[in-house]
Amino acid sequence: MSLFLKIAVDGPSASGKGTIARRLADQFHLSYLDTGALYRVVAKHILENGGNPDNPEDALKAAIFVRDHFNWDMLEDPSIRNDVVADATSRSSQIPVLREALMDFQRDFASHPPHNPHSKPWEGSILDGRDIGTVICPDADVKFYITASTEVRAERRTKELNNKGIPSSYETVLQDMAERDARDKSRTTNPLKPAPDAVIMDTSDMSTDQVFETACAIIRRKLV
Ligand code: C5P
Repeated sequence: MSLFLKIAVDGPSASGKGTIARRLADQFHLSYLDTGALYRVVAKHILENGGNPDNPEDALKAAIFVRDHFNWDMLEDPSIRNDVVADATSRSSQIPVLREALMDFQRDFASHPPHNPHSKPWEGSILDGRDIGTVICPDADVKFYITASTEVRAERRTKELNNKGIPSSYETVLQDMAERDARDKSRTTNPLKPAPDAVIMDTSDMSTDQVFETACAIIRRKLV
């Protein structure tokens, strides 16, 4: 019997959800989509075309373009991680028509992940983001909501940026993070919140290995 496993991972930025989702994808042979990167690519496209990230018309045009011309390299572009794009993403992702335009793309990926000939056959999909368990994949087999205190997340992000050679102060990172979290949680369309059936994991005092092992145990229980 073949079992197709669909996993949703949500949570605020720097909660460690991306790292865990990647490791789970590897462990359980799942195809992985970082939906935050997708929203970032759209925001970058708005900026590159002289658009305004708060303008629904510009946002919709960019979302349709990215969706219809999608390729995996887009998600690997390091410039989608810079501060200007991050701020534009936080704004544009509040726009309902933009989210709507990306919805079926994400759902199709979750149900029919593209085959990678260099890997073992996929046995499912894993998506991380803000509204995966609540809106994109309400039917996911397992849902995680990964979080940590704002201070711990800001510390992690500051360290990560400084390690990459981008000088950053904890205070600025903390303030930016608090602003973006507030936008994600308070927007009217698909705000960041745990699905009622999500397993909530506060990783403030946990190592990445501990989070990974706990998540694996939860998934394995599902598989038996
Ligand atoms: O996960 P990441 O920090 O890369 O996401 C960048 C931004 O994209 C977030 O601040 C959030 O506003 C937005 N986002 C979203 N819905 C998702 C994924 C990301 O609104 N599913």
